[in-house]
Amino acid sequence: MNRAYIGLGSNLAEPQRQLREALAALDRIERTRLAGVSSFYASDPLGPSDQPRYLNAVAAIDTELEPVALLDALQAIEQTQGRQRKAERWGPRTLDLDILLFGEQRIDEPRLQVPHYHMQARAFVLYPLAELLPAGFRLPDGRRLAELLANCPFTGLERLEADA
Ligand code: ATP
Ligand code: MG
Ligand code: MG
Repeated sequence: MNRAYIGLGSNLAEPQRQLREALAALDRIERTRLAGVSSFYASDPLGPSDQPRYLNAVAAIDTELEPVALLDALQAIEQTQGRQRKAERWGPRTLDLDILLFGEQRIDEPRLQVPHYHMQARAFVLYPLAELLPAGFRLPDGRRLAELLANCPFTGLERLEADA
């Protein structure tokens, strides 16, 4: 059994509903259960700025799946929720599910790199992730989460109230 952390993002087709459906879907993945969810955050878009703001959160899951099998399951959920992959990088999407951390593992495969390669630069990943991890947490490569947070300003980010 591995504890994994999944970054969720949506900026199309009722993001609030997209995230709630995605959380329920995570809990339905085989040999996997939802173990925790951060607050929801609104964030300014990465990449093209002519798109709606994003809604983001991080979920903790416990899974017996192998990492690539988990990625398959996450991509199936993205498809079910209407994700259309376009050539444009970081364009608007109904749902993005990224594996941020997978146990203590460091993975560098063609389809999967973990820890997620840009998480240190993304406030909308680090701040919700920090809600779910103990102070002093270290990534598998030894970096301290607190250090990443200290170097990533809370800019363009807005923590939403629980009932939002
Ligand atoms: P970014 O990766 O910068 O957040 P994105 O999430 O919009 O961009 P996607 O279109 O969702 O990118 O995914 C592109 C590819 O990234 C996927 O097909 C997948 O194989 C690969 N990938 C590599 N590492 C990961 C990871 N840790 N989690 C999810 N996908 C990953
Ligand atoms: Mg992403
Ligand atoms: Mg993705």
